[in-house]
Amino acid sequence: MKVLTEKIRVRGTVQGVGFRPTVYRLAKACGIEGEVGNDGEGVWILAAGSKNSLDLFVNRLKIEKPPLATIESIARNIVQNQRNFTGFQIVKSLNNNIKTEIVPDAATCPECLAETLNPLSRWYNYPFTNCTHCGPRLSIIKASPYDRCNTSMSAFRMCPKCDREYRDIENRRFHAQPISCPDCGPIVWLEGGETGIIGDSDTGKVFDLVASLILEGNIVAIKGLGGIHLACDATNEVAVDRLRKRKKRYDKPFALMAGNIEIIREYCEVNLQEEELLKSSAAPIVLLQKKIGSQIAEKVAPNLDTLGFMLPYTPLHHLILKQLDRPIVLTSANLSEEPQCIDNQQARNKLSKIADSLLLHDREIVNRLDDSVVRVVGEKLQTLRRARGYAPAPLKLPRGFDFNVDILAMGSQLKNTFCLLKDGKAILSQHLGNLENAAAMNAYQETLKLYLNLFDRQPQTIAIDLHPEYLSTKLGREIAENKQLKLQPIQHHHAHIAACLAENNIALNSSPILGIALDGLGWGEKGQIWGGEFMLVDYRSYQRLATFKPVAMVGGEKAISQPWRNTYAHLMAGFNWQELEDKYKDLEIIQFLNKQPITLLNQLIKKGINSPLASSCGRLFDAVAGAIDVCRSESSYEGQAAIEMETLALNNLEENEPYPFTIGKLKEENLLYIEPRSMWRSLLKDLQQNRSKGIISAKFHRGLAKIIVAMVNKIFLERNIDNKTVALTGGVFQNRILLQLVTADLERQEITVLTPSKIPSNDGGLSLGQAVIAAARSM
Ligand SMILES: [Zn+2]
Ligand SMILES: [Zn+2]
Repeated sequence: MKVLTEKIRVRGTVQGVGFRPTVYRLAKACGIEGEVGNDGEGVWILAAGSKNSLDLFVNRLKIEKPPLATIESIARNIVQNQRNFTGFQIVKSLNNNIKTEIVPDAATCPECLAETLNPLSRWYNYPFTNCTHCGPRLSIIKASPYDRCNTSMSAFRMCPKCDREYRDIENRRFHAQPISCPDCGPIVWLEGGETGIIGDSDTGKVFDLVASLILEGNIVAIKGLGGIHLACDATNEVAVDRLRKRKKRYDKPFALMAGNIEIIREYCEVNLQEEELLKSSAAPIVLLQKKIGSQIAEKVAPNLDTLGFMLPYTPLHHLILKQLDRPIVLTSANLSEEPQCIDNQQARNKLSKIADSLLLHDREIVNRLDDSVVRVVGEKLQTLRRARGYAPAPLKLPRGFDFNVDILAMGSQLKNTFCLLKDGKAILSQHLGNLENAAAMNAYQETLKLYLNLFDRQPQTIAIDLHPEYLSTKLGREIAENKQLKLQPIQHHHAHIAACLAENNIALNSSPILGIALDGLGWGEKGQIWGGEFMLVDYRSYQRLATFKPVAMVGGEKAISQPWRNTYAHLMAGFNWQELEDKYKDLEIIQFLNKQPITLLNQLIKKGINSPLASSCGRLFDAVAGAIDVCRSESSYEGQAAIEMETLALNNLEENEPYPFTIGKLKEENLLYIEPRSMWRSLLKDLQQNRSKGIISAKFHRGLAKIIVAMVNKIFLERNIDNKTVALTGGVFQNRILLQLVTADLERQEITVLTPSKIPSNDGGLSLGQAVIAAARSM
């Protein structure tokens, strides 16, 4: 039998995930001799054996790769000068500069779960069981390289048994940095309330107690993987209400966790794709369709038809949830809008008035990681928040970006993430939240420092948003100034669209593509506020071709949280008040507006005092919401009005005709725009005829989708655009009705639709767009 030697090159996520031990095991099983090692490009293998056994080996590697590995490519080349090997070896990295990749935190694997639940296992009832295929990663890393001494596990000395497993290449825990057991690892305890402190002498008892406290209607703070949560019985109306009041979070939906998928099915519809997401190693919160008559407390997700569910993703969560036949609320532990607590002392200080008891442990959470949020829209994954389980996995960039460049993009103000770009890959930070909050801004700076160290970056260019008041922009300017780096200011909606193109693998030098970025607000040119933009875009530049009607935001910032202000401004932009009063004086909305200080508001609008014009699609949603009394006086979280309208519209789409919009031209700027005047006329008429909120919402959604498609066609025609592709992005396109209506209509005309999937279409994806634009411009 002829022996061949091949050099096999494996690229992808193949470091720090137990790849070399798997190669070793499979080589032995297939009768292959040779060696395997890590280098800057991934994993290399020298494999000697018969043609058949080599083929078998490579095929099995593809199938039996470790759970957390992803293989991008396997290249095989015959080596001419054959060497004689004896057996198969793992070779130490020759170059010490090679830094093992940092993979995202991963949910408990089936083997570890089985051990945790097995009374005969040494991991029985142990809340920190993990192995190479699962457990904490980014959440515990302090510095690079990813070795135990650089994680918060350095505080725990391995016992001889753990040490043996750690060193045993045949063991599932070979080089599992966070390995620990009840003899040597972190401990949990319960404190606060009437119980005093319950220690870990019998861990099982602690979890029994937590479960019964929850069943009795208490609120328990639970320190988990990337942060501390607040938990209560999700079917207990009183407990959920108490949690809302104590947390001062009034409407924003709470996430839920259930012990297994069968329990989730009692409350929600779960299709195959959603089940896979729930059970994936990222274990995100998945938004699911609520079943009619669901027994979940109404206040878990007021006025919504979806629930956000996740499955237990650490042994600690499993040990609590296995005792509960119903879901629990598991929401980040903080006061409204602050970042999630991660520290024990901080939890005692801040949560004493919110939680009745605290389940804490002594493993430090180094990096705060919120739970990721995803959903499936028409068979496609949509990411709403990218954090635990997904960050910091790199995103491979399209063709053309693989040139020598090192870029840092600072991201947005709300839903902030930052992005590092190098070697044709982009690394997005986890969701860091609203930077206006001092604690979030601190975390942003800390996390930025950590990532620059972990991934060994010395950025030459800093990309920032045009908005002068974004704290990320200010910090970016400061860094650029201090280190004398190039600064690259980037328009908000251009960045949104570029991020969508990059994720959809549009090559660097492709011809321009029409992008539609619909969101709340973003800085435009000359200090304008934009938020409903049709742009012809490539990675370097954009041409603004159409927009939404610019309407005053009366009261500035206040217009963002008080939808009625937009209703008023929109009506004033289309009609004169006398005419409205004459024609519609019986309408409740007109009476409501009449009670407002109209004279003053009119002066503000007329003189442009604290009432900047904004061409925003988000504000148009608010305006309509205000008219039909959805969050009219106040919305308590970003996008609430639009999200509630989406829910209202869902069951009314079929039989109701779309509202008419028209296309006009802004003379000064010579720009097409969407004119909602005729929509308002029909809407007011519907209000007179007492049509329901649901019907009006449906007609609005359908009308908006129709005019967006009409605008696309008009642009294609007028501009003679051959590339019949449209990118749909921006926070507003998280609205599944609008997204699906527009997509279906465009695809019916054989227009290709690109949407973001793995990155959020909201501002959480902005930094990716900034990074690719800055890279393209630096060529
Ligand atoms: Zn495991
Ligand atoms: Zn141990």
